[in-house]
Amino acid sequence: MRVVVVGAGYAGTIAANRLAKKVPDAGITVINPRPDFVERVRLHEQIAGTGQAATPLASMLRAGITSRVGTVDTIGDGRVTLEDGASLGFDYLFLAVGSTAVPMAGTVPVGTWEGAEQARAGLAELSAGDAVTVIGGGLTGIETASELAGARPDLHVRLVGSSIAASLSPGARQRVCAGLERLGVEVVEDMVVEVGSRRGDRVVRLRSGAKFVSSLTLWAILASIPGLAARSGLEMNSEGRVRVDEFLRSVNDARIFAVGDCAAVSGARLCCATASPQGAHAADNLARIAQGRKPEPYSMGYAGQALSLGRKDGLVQASRRDDTVRRLYIAGRAAAVAKEGVSRYAKYGARTANYAWIPGAK
Ligand SMILES: Cc1cc2nc3c(=O)[nH]c(=O)nc-3n(C[C@H](O)[C@H](O)[C@H](O)COP(=O)(O)OP(=O)(O)OC[C@H]3O[C@@H](n4cnc5c(N)ncnc54)[C@H](O)[C@@H]3O)c2cc1C
Repeated sequence: MRVVVVGAGYAGTIAANRLAKKVPDAGITVINPRPDFVERVRLHEQIAGTGQAATPLASMLRAGITSRVGTVDTIGDGRVTLEDGASLGFDYLFLAVGSTAVPMAGTVPVGTWEGAEQARAGLAELSAGDAVTVIGGGLTGIETASELAGARPDLHVRLVGSSIAASLSPGARQRVCAGLERLGVEVVEDMVVEVGSRRGDRVVRLRSGAKFVSSLTLWAILASIPGLAARSGLEMNSEGRVRVDEFLRSVNDARIFAVGDCAAVSGARLCCATASPQGAHAADNLARIAQGRKPEPYSMGYAGQALSLGRKDGLVQASRRDDTVRRLYIAGRAAAVAKEGVSRYAKYGARTANYAWIPGAK
């Protein structure tokens, strides 16, 4: 059985390792644009210089799995074509290309490896008193702004978003704003309409008409899915995520499992807590098929959301299995430790294929 895994993030890596464990004679090839496994949940740390996001992919994959550096251009009938012109046949495929960012002109995206490296280099050139603007009031923007403020207290860090921490409960939202304030982050609830330049300075303009100078402007919104599925003619939802059946298989090609940020699974949030169980479940289903058994429907429930506020503070928001938030949250150093534990568990799960999750709401 020839299996191609496209994308070695959380979903693709756990899928490859879990399948290799369960079907040792499967011929598995993982295709990824970099020779590294990138922990996207640590890209803000990579930018601030407080952590490292890249681990050699070879050290993450089980013996016997082939890895190939490359970018898949199209998926055809049982065959993938890479941008370098090479092509590879498959009997089954895991599509695990994640999500990406479409940054506004004049900004640098934090959600891609290349953007994070550019942001890290830009940050190193800034002097005391310079302003950094982070666009995006979701968890990625909050984590990025607080990480930068903690690592570079000499800079003026601003976080701009039309709403801040909207996915959290009202109490948790207030606590996040207090944590940001403690770190010296200026929070601006508004929308950025343009990042232009005036007499050599970069100027951020807001919908309210306000504007300010920003030496480095970061785009911390993850919303877009790579165009591979569209180019390959796979059926997608309006966000460009691949439509799947209850077993996580593409609705127009049962040989293709779509997992992680790029899969359109009802109620699924863009996060590693979604990507890991989907990758694991799809691998389990392919193992069942290989053994002549029936695949099983996917079911997964959330327990909460965790975020860091610099290295010493954080917040864990409790949620119901359907991802609606509860009032309960914890914050402070214990939450920072818990968030670090969540990040480590996601990487551990990808590497070892040992990963447990709770079933979804009935
Ligand atoms: C700064 C930041 C902080 C975050 N914090 C959290 C957090 O605290 N908790 C949380 O749950 N989530 C967090 N997220 C979101 C989380 O990182 C993503 O939801 C998660 O990485 C999705 O996993 P994935 O495997 O679907 O995709 P990814 O991890 O994005 O992996 C996709 C892989 O596919 C590769 N790829 C793309 N196109 C192709 C192609 N054409 N051919 C071959 N390979 C391709 C990519 O290069 C990448 O290696 C954060 C994200 C960022 C940016």
